[in-house]
Amino acid sequence: MALLLGCVADDFTGATDLASTLVKAGMRTVQLLGVPRRELVVPDCDAIVIALKSRSNAAEEAVMMSLAALDWLREKGARQYYFKYCSTFDSTDKGNIGPVADAMIDVLGADFTVFNPAFPTNKRTVFKGHLFVGDELLSDSGMRNHPLTPMTDSSLVRVLERQSRFKSGLVEFATIERGAAAVREAFERLSKQGIRHIILDSVTDEHLITLGEACADLKLITGGSGMAMGLPANFAGSGGLEIGDMQPLPAVTGSTAVLSGSCSLATQGQVDYMRQNHDAFQVDPVAIAKGRDVAGEALDWARTRLGEKPILIYSTADANQVGAAQEQLGREHAGALVEETLGKVAKELVTIGVRRLIVAGGETAGAVVSSLGVEGLNIGREIDPGVPWTFSIGEPNLALALKSGNFGTPDFFVKAFSVDGNT
Ligand code: ADP
Repeated sequence: MALLLGCVADDFTGATDLASTLVKAGMRTVQLLGVPRRELVVPDCDAIVIALKSRSNAAEEAVMMSLAALDWLREKGARQYYFKYCSTFDSTDKGNIGPVADAMIDVLGADFTVFNPAFPTNKRTVFKGHLFVGDELLSDSGMRNHPLTPMTDSSLVRVLERQSRFKSGLVEFATIERGAAAVREAFERLSKQGIRHIILDSVTDEHLITLGEACADLKLITGGSGMAMGLPANFAGSGGLEIGDMQPLPAVTGSTAVLSGSCSLATQGQVDYMRQNHDAFQVDPVAIAKGRDVAGEALDWARTRLGEKPILIYSTADANQVGAAQEQLGREHAGALVEETLGKVAKELVTIGVRRLIVAGGETAGAVVSSLGVEGLNIGREIDPGVPWTFSIGEPNLALALKSGNFGTPDFFVKAFSVDGNT
């Protein structure tokens, strides 16, 4: 069957979130990790999501990686393309959302594209172009302290205009309430004014469904995972999509572990919760920088504890601790040291028998999964909105849950192991 939707995601947890959204809406979806090898054989599917670790790279590098992924998808002849970023629009003034979208618009010969990070189920909404996290503006939320991409402006129009030489327009809530035809008219009007970045308000899932319908003919769509909710319906029936049930996934047995490199508020709560009743080991970037073999220490610690109960290895810390580490080591260096260490730990944990692994943090998941050498994932049952169990395609045979920093209930790490991957 022809590939209907080709997606490029700027981090691994986000890619899983998008793939899960598509699966729930009836599309057979495969997630590939990193720009795939040309000769990689992919199971028959309706949508492919290529997960990159490009969110925090230099903009030129992110553009190169994204275009390589896009190229691979174009060779497969996808009918529509999607660029996925975080529901909190994680980026800096240098990029990477604007530059990557611009490059994809150019390659695909599109006149414009849309931007919509909204994910109402997880309380991310866009109103009058401002992004809200729960009841707070993005700039008042915990995202202002993110270790790599602190978000201090909630106006998506302003954020995007700082990242690109093109002006941005907005399709407001009131227009979206009037339905898909009104939205398409707004697209046409804005496009005639030469605007090629159109930000979309969205407060409810109904808005996302309307927008999905309105975007049926766009070559490129950009957004969080929510924006993809309305797309599968466009392909149904004569569009080539037979909406079907989720494929059953293999049962995976073996030891269980959680690796957490996210410092988001939700993850801080999840780490605190798990530490109450489970063995936990803290990874400290300053100790790594001093030359201590922290990965080795974590593994020696883990070896004696692996068994029935999941163990936790985490670098998760609050804003003060992160700030202190960054002051000593630099923001990027601190992050890179932690990522490298957790990657090493993950690889060894699998060697010594861990088969079900939760990784918290987008960048962290990218580092861990790359270190494991997993090339692709099938998508299973959702544990919490946006976080499904996934199963590696090929060796090593693993069940993985890649959790975006701010997703999941406080007991996420513990409850995840009590559900299996199938619905
Ligand atoms: P999230 O999904 O919450 O954004 P990420 O994994 O994408 O999480 O980003 C967290 C970043 O913070 C990673 O680069 C990680 O290595 C870094 N980090 C983790 N722990 C610490 C720490 N204790 N001090 C400084 N940086 C850290």
